[in-house]
Amino acid sequence: MERPRGTRDFLPAEMARRRETERAMRRTALEFGYGEVQTPTFEQTDLFVAKSGEAIVEEIYVFEDKGGRSLSLRPELTAAVMRLYSTSLTHAPKPVRVFYMGPYFRYERPQKGRYREFFQFGAELIGTPQPEGDAEIIALAVRSIEAAGMEDLEVRVGHVGALRALLGSLGVPAEMAAKAFPLIDKGDIEGLRGLLMDKVEYSSIELIEDYVSTTGDIAVVEGAIASLARFPEVTEALERLKAALEQLDAYEGIGYEVDLGIARGLDYYMGVVFEVDWQGLGAEKQVCGGGAYELGQLFGLDNVPATGFAIGLDRVDIAVSMSSQDGPVREGALVVPMDRDGEVMHLAVAAAEALRSSGIRTELEVMRRGTGKALKGADARLFRWAIIIGSDEVAKGKVAVKDLDSGEQRLVSLDELCDLGI
Ligand code: ATP
Ligand code: MG
Repeated sequence: MERPRGTRDFLPAEMARRRETERAMRRTALEFGYGEVQTPTFEQTDLFVAKSGEAIVEEIYVFEDKGGRSLSLRPELTAAVMRLYSTSLTHAPKPVRVFYMGPYFRYERPQKGRYREFFQFGAELIGTPQPEGDAEIIALAVRSIEAAGMEDLEVRVGHVGALRALLGSLGVPAEMAAKAFPLIDKGDIEGLRGLLMDKVEYSSIELIEDYVSTTGDIAVVEGAIASLARFPEVTEALERLKAALEQLDAYEGIGYEVDLGIARGLDYYMGVVFEVDWQGLGAEKQVCGGGAYELGQLFGLDNVPATGFAIGLDRVDIAVSMSSQDGPVREGALVVPMDRDGEVMHLAVAAAEALRSSGIRTELEVMRRGTGKALKGADARLFRWAIIIGSDEVAKGKVAVKDLDSGEQRLVSLDELCDLGI
């Protein structure tokens, strides 16, 4: 029987690397004062429809349970976190800082870096409308990805509210803007022109094309503020972007590029938005997307400014394994009893337990292989140490430790074993 399309099995070596990434990101989020939350992997379909519109059902796994309820596997967590906020956290001191990690499901066309079951690490900062909040969320995203061992990240920052206001000010009707956003998100300028042609003045189309292609440093924001002064809603939003970038400058070593064409494709984003790319990944190079949104109204709450991000852990994992230059490292110990009688096994198990209790990964030989064969296997499997125990060792109350790196062997007591400094 085959796995369902777009899903994967993870073997121990891969899981070890993935858990390492998760640990690094969890540590970073905790250091920033974020607390971990967990919500169900399936939700009422309405939650996602309310947030993203009816069309979302085409992109997600929807099913009916035995009670006739329409449920969906979660495609992301922002909506569920807002639900959690509205039911359990409205009275918590502001801002609320939460993070999460887990599997997500989307009905995608699978390819490298794009799966139907994939994994994200995300965070939400709820309750502050200040630019410091935007900067903190961007910084946390970057620091988390760096903690996983990735370098040369490209951070692009824009403002989706400014873009929406510009389209509105130039007479693009809301439903056309909704179609324009995914095109802008994909960088499809031709498609955008085709959409707006005949409906919007040519000079306005040119202005929009120019605007969404604007990239550079903070000066391009200042330039846009000056040149778009006749659209106060746009410049107000751009002032906000500028303030967030100034706050972000306080974080050492977080480089970014302004990209006024970031659209993020979804209606609920309102403010500063950002994306993080890693070029080595090729077509699926985006490892993180995020920004400021308003979703409180879905749950009957007014004025809940929030900002957050989601990092694609599968893409981080591909990147980390591509850039890791570590050769194989010898690690851990294999305990090899030379026969299986009570006393030898007793000492062997005691040695294994002693090593484990001092944090050393230790396996016990349970295949009853001959000592020579067992040692050969330990070497091939890159153990650092072999602990060899026979009746001689039992008689001396010691164990033989062979360093498989140097080939040296010596007799030590169980107490000394824990001080090997492995
Ligand atoms: P894309 O444009 O690549 O489809 P997205 O805008 O749909 O991304 P988000 O919903 O913002 O992505 O999710 C955040 C991150 O999660 C993405 O930047 C990406 O790294 C990762 N991601 C999204 N969808 C998938 C998927 N199907 N498989 C693996 N990773 C994914
Ligand atoms: Mg997508």
